[in-house]
Amino acid sequence: MAELAGKSVYITGGASGIGKAVVEAFIKEGAVVTVLDRSADGLGELEQHLGDSVRTITGDVTVYEDHQRAVQCAVEAFGKLDILVSNAGVFDAFAKFVDVTPQAMSDAYDMLFNINVKGSFFAAKAAVDELKRTRGNMIFTVSGAGFYPDGGGVWYTASKHAQIGLLRQLAFELAPDIRVNAVAPGGTLTALSVIPPLRPFVNVVDNETKAKSIKRRNPLQIAMEPEDHVGAYVLLASDKARAITGEVLASDGGLVVRGL
Ligand code: NAD
Repeated sequence: MAELAGKSVYITGGASGIGKAVVEAFIKEGAVVTVLDRSADGLGELEQHLGDSVRTITGDVTVYEDHQRAVQCAVEAFGKLDILVSNAGVFDAFAKFVDVTPQAMSDAYDMLFNINVKGSFFAAKAAVDELKRTRGNMIFTVSGAGFYPDGGGVWYTASKHAQIGLLRQLAFELAPDIRVNAVAPGGTLTALSVIPPLRPFVNVVDNETKAKSIKRRNPLQIAMEPEDHVGAYVLLASDKARAITGEVLASDGGLVVRGL
């Protein structure tokens, strides 16, 4: 049976990578989806491929009005909003704290925290009233870097810890009306982009090197693809998870048992 039949979903960063896989999986499970992304090309491809089950908004998660437009679009097109997936994010490519100049550090903080953290605040704020109406739920895409070091540099790691704090406080404040959870993927083969201020300080590696490194880092030795995580999102979004809130579901090949 379709787990998300008739559900209306708003997702950020759904034009690529993990977000795109979630959009496709949710539609397979019977949902209709509104996607906000800054990539107009990626959204165009999504529309061509998915047709009437999807609506798209070209916009930026750091702009509150763009989230308002997306929520309004979802409600106008599909009559309601049941689920928010705040997924858009950017990376620091393991930039080393000691190497980065104070100016680049400050620029990197502003850019990365604005997208990864403020983007989630804004998405939640814009969606909260509609989700209250449907007693819906929110899911944040966090990361293994939300728990452990070495999943990024200080900016990315701190931003993913911050998102977990946000989800826990929201789960507390919004109960009993809205469930708030997260999925924490481990290293995954996507186009996750490195923010410009840190580019001079990092080596961007090719996909094969990335795959080997991801495999080496997790006990199940999986070079994870976006599709490997969709089961976690479907579960948390569905009514089968009606007793789950404030939780982070790891989908990371077993980082918790990595050991020393
Ligand atoms: P991706 O680059 O393939 O997808 C991210 C999407 O977000 C893109 O479509 C991009 O255009 C969009 N986006 C970025 N900044 C935006 C902005 N300011 N406004 C609107 N859209 C914006 O990368 P991904 O790996 O699929 O990343 C998705 C999420 O997964 C991120 O939150 C990331 O931190 C998290 N994550 C990724 C990995 C990994 O190894 N790839 C691991 C753990 C968690």
